Amino acid sequence: MRDDRSVYTKRIDHLRRIAEIDHVLILNGTNIRYLTGFSGGEGALLITPDQVHLLVDGRYTTQASQETTDLKIIEFQNKADAISSLLHNEKVDFVGFEESFITLGEYQKLKDALSGVALKPMSVRLDWLRAVKDAAEITEIKNAIRIAENTLTDLKNLIKPGIRETEIAVELDYQMRRAGAERISFDTIVATGPNTALPHATPGNRRVEAGDFVLIDYGAVFNGYHSDQTRMFCVGTPSDRQQEVYQAVLDAHDRAIAAIREGVTCKEIDGIARSFLEEKGLGKYFSHGTGHGVGLEVHEAPTLSRAKDDKLQSGMVVTVEPGVYFPEVWGIRIEDMVLVGKDGCEMLTAMPNGLVEL
Ligand code: ZN
Ligand code: ZN
Repeated sequence: MRDDRSVYTKRIDHLRRIAEIDHVLILNGTNIRYLTGFSGGEGALLITPDQVHLLVDGRYTTQASQETTDLKIIEFQNKADAISSLLHNEKVDFVGFEESFITLGEYQKLKDALSGVALKPMSVRLDWLRAVKDAAEITEIKNAIRIAENTLTDLKNLIKPGIRETEIAVELDYQMRRAGAERISFDTIVATGPNTALPHATPGNRRVEAGDFVLIDYGAVFNGYHSDQTRMFCVGTPSDRQQEVYQAVLDAHDRAIAAIREGVTCKEIDGIARSFLEEKGLGKYFSHGTGHGVGLEVHEAPTLSRAKDDKLQSGMVVTVEPGVYFPEVWGIRIEDMVLVGKDGCEMLTAMPNGLVEL
């Protein structure tokens, strides 16, 4: 990504065309990265009709100059004051900003500093622009997935009676880093036995026992782009009920994936997985949405849930992750990532998703 500087110029020009505001202020670190390549995560970006200013504090000046091109880097002592003086130099009356990425406190501080320049919420949503990936972004996502999947494939033999959840989690994290991940996507979930019934379990000291389900939800980051995947293992032979429920979750997952294509709404996809599990009497144990976008953030637009009317578009990368959780007994989640296309979708994750007996 970093070598292809023109991609950032294109994104900024695109934003200029659709923003309908001459001066735009971007404060969200991920959106700044998307538009400039600067990965520091902090700062401000002011886009004017003929210039792009990246405002950073002293910790980031060198990094910003290494990672960006075709923009003016300004080192600030006080961010709000620096934004204010730039805008006053430009003699503008108002500036567009992203209302969903600013706290009330930040807004108030900025408003006070910008005396005479009004803050106007932008109608363009950068998170929606980011939802549709270009070819280079898809390559980075595939790289992140390969690192993660190869690591888990090599590591699964570690899962045997006696090993603690935390030991599996730290080994997975360490090996993903060694394999080239710049970091892990999120706190790795390794849940065993009854802990698999917690959709967001934190790895603890529980030791794997014979007959346990083991749920691993994990991902790697490569050049800023995330992977997110869940795989299930059974230490020994699963019971008939475990096999039956696993198959139901897998069928719900497969049906949702089979329906994914451009133009389908997020809630239709969620409904396909959910109604299938409801038919099997498992609907009330499916306590979260069916999936979400993945990119520069591990959870980003769109959200595949029953409340979302948004339509899928070609180039979106989403997870499909139905789950069934029997409180204090066990749970199952199967999560894969797909690329939305015109007539269907492409599986991005490739590791087999059947129940693995160890
Ligand atoms: Zn996940
Ligand atoms: Zn996920």
